[in-house]
Amino acid sequence: MSGPVQHAGMRASNLALVLRAIAEADAITRARLSTVTGLTKSSISGLVTDLVAGGLVEETLAPPSRDRGRPGTMLALHRQGVAGLGLEVNVDYLAALVVDLGGTVRYRHVATRDNRGRPAQEVLAELAGLAEAATAAAAEQRLGLAGACLAVPGAADGTTIVRAPNLEWAVVPVELPLPATAYGLSIENEANLAALGELWFGTATPRDFVHVSGEIGIGAGIVVGGELFRGAHLRAGELGHVILDPDGPPCSCGGRGCLERLAGLDAILQAAGAPSRLELERRCRDGDDRALGAVADAGRLVGVALASVTNLLDPDAVVLGGVFAALAPWLQPAVADALADHAAKPELLVSSLGPDAAVRGAAGAVVRQVIDDPAKFLGWRG
Ligand SMILES: [Zn+2]
Repeated sequence: MSGPVQHAGMRASNLALVLRAIAEADAITRARLSTVTGLTKSSISGLVTDLVAGGLVEETLAPPSRDRGRPGTMLALHRQGVAGLGLEVNVDYLAALVVDLGGTVRYRHVATRDNRGRPAQEVLAELAGLAEAATAAAAEQRLGLAGACLAVPGAADGTTIVRAPNLEWAVVPVELPLPATAYGLSIENEANLAALGELWFGTATPRDFVHVSGEIGIGAGIVVGGELFRGAHLRAGELGHVILDPDGPPCSCGGRGCLERLAGLDAILQAAGAPSRLELERRCRDGDDRALGAVADAGRLVGVALASVTNLLDPDAVVLGGVFAALAPWLQPAVADALADHAAKPELLVSSLGPDAAVRGAAGAVVRQVIDDPAKFLGWRG
């Protein structure tokens, strides 16, 4: 009885091996695939036939070259077939974004909202509308969704949000009217997805880094050797709750003087006397002393917290993301000074994805599922 099962398992892992090699190469010949995977040419031929039939891989003609004479057939990810839907609920916005198998953004919509204290079901109903519009936009481009991933400022167990203190949500089961897909819906912490977004789509991101998502809350995603570090209880990276002042203001986590209470967006806006982030940025550009002081003070505190993080984890780089990316011209020097004052010397980078990092990471996580387990997609498609 173990024979066929073993065979099915081997086929699944070989499909993943071949698809990963195609994804990494951009375009590759069957002969080269055989070399890099160690599979025979006849195995490659069968696996590639299945991947092409399933709409995951397409054949293209390579330009003629001097040594080959006539054009050869190359294999590449099929960018017109399958896509991933990324969704995000955050404290001050909702977002939906679609990426194709090659990682290109095909649809993006962000709606600014103050979601704090709003009933969860009301927010999720609005998110469902964004998801439906994104699904329709994908269908118009003839892209079929392989699955969806929702980024939340908290933690989830399966498709239930179990903790989102900045939204004032406790246990919230999530049901969205999504079309049936191979991988279904998954939910993940937004700071983790932002780090993965940076790893997959960022420019020149190293394999060991800490990505800081500065929003109203402050989260961090820790990437070690190109893999996300989640911690024993999925709580790794709670940078916002690193305590900088044990006698400081109370925090939603039950502690006091946490970094995000002192240097999160709300704290910066309050110190600057600015009504919104865009107004804060405008005042910084205009050289407003109070706004610049508020941002620099926050930067120093973020730098102090990151000096401890650096001493613990020794990453190659720290990436400032979210709102901190938008404020980087005025925030980054203060962060750098505080790091230097504490003898911590990671490379200090600014996210090229900014506030889109988490929802890009969410959509990318679906694409990753396809590339890591194409057999599930092919089996679901039948
Ligand atoms: Zn806290």
